[in-house]
Amino acid sequence: MQTDTSTLSKETICSIAVGDFVQRVKDFHGATAPGVILGGYMVDLAYRHLPTGDILFDAISETRACLPDAIQLLTPCTIGNGWLKVLDLGRFALSLYDKSNGNGIRVFLDTAKLESFSEIKTWFFKLKPKQAQDLEVLLDEIHTARSQVCEVTSVKLKPEIFVTRRRGAFRICPICHESYPAAHGNSCRACSGETPYL
Ligand code: ZN
Repeated sequence: MQTDTSTLSKETICSIAVGDFVQRVKDFHGATAPGVILGGYMVDLAYRHLPTGDILFDAISETRACLPDAIQLLTPCTIGNGWLKVLDLGRFALSLYDKSNGNGIRVFLDTAKLESFSEIKTWFFKLKPKQAQDLEVLLDEIHTARSQVCEVTSVKLKPEIFVTRRRGAFRICPICHESYPAAHGNSCRACSGETPYL
């Protein structure tokens, strides 16, 4: 990497040295994806705006791309434990919110701020084919920009989003004989036509 790691090691993302975070992204995501690195700075910014004290928070990613991995690497929230919800809104934004009252902090990529960061702008809007963009130059710019390309707002979650629902009853599907939530109807969703398999 061209990035000066001696500088990166002094900087942190959620108390993790940036260099260590970059390595974790590589290990977990399979590549040093710019979106996950930028996502790390976004999670860090959201954390710094959360009220202090012992609050239990959940997370929302408004895109399926990259941000869920940044959230899973830097917070206790994962898709599997249910504390991270991934919405397919297509917006490069995330929020962390108090699960007791739905009060949260939302961080989003502010496209107006991209004018000063041409590499990030080119990457984000796919202005060049991927192979024509220099990944190292882009990553350097992300580490320089940190959360300067982002904006923070306070949000209040809808109750239907933040109130945890208990799992309902399960039953056995008469077709595949596997268990499924009874609320789904007379057979499981797979046997009702939603199977992903041929
Ligand atoms: Zn079935």
